[in-house]
Amino acid sequence: CGIVGYAGPVSGAPSPRPVDVALQGLARLEYRGYDSAGVAVLDGDQVRVDKRAGKLANLREALEGRRETPSAVAIGHTRWATHGAPTDGNAHPHLGGREQELALVHNGIIENFAALRAELEADGYPFLSETDSEVAAHLVAREMETAGDLTEAMRRTAGRLEGAFTLLAVHRTAPGTVVAARRNSPLVVGLGEGENFLGSDVAAFVDATKEALEVGQDQVVTVTADSVDIIDFEGTPVTDAKRYTIEWDAQG
Ligand code: GLU
Repeated sequence: CGIVGYAGPVSGAPSPRPVDVALQGLARLEYRGYDSAGVAVLDGDQVRVDKRAGKLANLREALEGRRETPSAVAIGHTRWATHGAPTDGNAHPHLGGREQELALVHNGIIENFAALRAELEADGYPFLSETDSEVAAHLVAREMETAGDLTEAMRRTAGRLEGAFTLLAVHRTAPGTVVAARRNSPLVVGLGEGENFLGSDVAAFVDATKEALEVGQDQVVTVTADSVDIIDFEGTPVTDAKRYTIEWDAQG
């Protein structure tokens, strides 16, 4: 239902910033309604996911005492369940890959998930949820094995999905990168100083920056602390993304 992403400097120094940006963004997105919430970061070589059914307070409680992380990135999600009950296990982020090397969040509905799930299960990918979204996590992880590049893995994955999606993913071999894709579902980039943001709407990052970049239909965005690169699903660079300043009333 709601998505937030953060990319800051890869310093390895523990900081609460990535998790705090994610939690603050999710709180801003609460107005849209949701049944579960979760956050993923990269703790060294491990993908760490915390997720809980119910109110954001449950997630905050789960993260109590563990907001500090060496991670440069974070992705967060509030879920409005369409496939699978609102449980901790069905909450996003979902882990992807045989060694859980990736985490992914999804807004929308993947119409052809059943066929993709059968294909991935036959290929040995472990499924831990009843969601349509988990296929996207494993697809990106599998494409990463051959592409070796997270942007290309996301581009190939987007080409296999039918339906509506905003996807964000982080991978343990790309410590400073958040990659995203959208089709029939919204995605905006927030431009910071030495850090960048992603959101399903500008509310996700408006506390951090008012400078935004529109992402068009069928595009893939790769964000680091100091770069934002956009391509379309054919791989052609997008150079005319519209930049604008968010007008936000103080009560917002
Ligand atoms: N279809 C996905 C699910 O049920 C995502 C729902 C959403 O947009 O929050 O988990």
